[in-house]
Amino acid sequence: MPRFATVPCAPCPRCVFHAWQLVEEGRLVWQSEWECGSCGFGAPDVCNRDHGTGVPPADVREAVVAREGTVLLRVDGARAAALKVLRDVLGLTFPELAAVVRDGYRATPVEARHLTDALHGAGWRP
Ligand SMILES: [Zn+2]
Repeated sequence: MPRFATVPCAPCPRCVFHAWQLVEEGRLVWQSEWECGSCGFGAPDVCNRDHGTGVPPADVREAVVAREGTVLLRVDGARAAALKVLRDVLGLTFPELAAVVRDGYRATPVEARHLTDALHGAGWRP
């Protein structure tokens, strides 16, 4: 059987995980990729890239938080329109929303910027 230069869908120990967030067309977007000089996993356009909208998966968010940290967004006193924005952007259940109203939300800088803009749009100033 010929040996193709296949790329295993798993990082080697030297692979470095990069993840970031941005706002694109008014939506929260996340992207991630692996970078490596020793294995093929870090090559572009293979299984190592991922992206999506909304709040990122745990591993992506951890990587973003590790690099950028979080800010505490206080939303106590927010009215219905602002709460709907929070629910829509963060995909929260009602109990989670109640916890955010009580304790604030640990947002990444990009999330905080996007949420602040969206909350302003809903007529509320954090
Ligand atoms: Zn590697």
